[in-house]
Amino acid sequence: MNVVERANNNESTNGAARAAAYDALVARAQACRLCPRMEGRRRVLGAGNGPLDARVLFVAEAPGRLGGDRTGVPLVSDQSGRNFARLLEAAGWRRDEVFVSNAILCNPRDVQGRNDAPARVEIRNCSTHLRDLLTILDPPYVVALGRVALDALALIAPHTIALRRDVATGVSWDGRTLVPLYHPGPRAQLHRPFARQQEDVVRLRALVDSGRPRL
Ligand code: SF4
Repeated sequence: MNVVERANNNESTNGAARAAAYDALVARAQACRLCPRMEGRRRVLGAGNGPLDARVLFVAEAPGRLGGDRTGVPLVSDQSGRNFARLLEAAGWRRDEVFVSNAILCNPRDVQGRNDAPARVEIRNCSTHLRDLLTILDPPYVVALGRVALDALALIAPHTIALRRDVATGVSWDGRTLVPLYHPGPRAQLHRPFARQQEDVVRLRALVDSGRPRL
């Protein structure tokens, strides 16, 4: 076996090990019953989240009732998903080039059945799955979509990022680069108009393409 064949062989062995570790994580998540109010909800982690060798992992807040909980894929089909698709398009990314997950893997609902914010304990419960996901994917860039994602990532490794101050700026974190962006949901546009969010994601793309931790 020559050098190139050996490198290809190592790559496919690593790819197979990563796929096996991911499948095991998906199985653990599907069997997870840590949060009582998530009974009957989907665990939104599986084949549709993205490629395991993606260079960018987007972490949003939680699956939506009309989005991930319905489709099994995060950030699709509801308004947040449609906005996210437009943001990726602005940066010239195809959805199948990035990996997308959430701070918590299940859709939190209030007593009326509407989307609710994740509880602190639910974020803590699910941080085990998020930590495992980071270990398996090992992406050079992690993008936190909103404050809840930043809070969840701080449980894995501390950071002092403030969304408003550091938006679209690369920060060295846990051996990789963490970039905060606003969540693509309609509520976040009160704080960051959509046109500014498009500029942010274009800046993120430039950072990722540069391969550097900061521009
Ligand atoms: S939100 Fe996470 S920790 Fe809670 S039940 Fe769902 S998979 Fe388990």
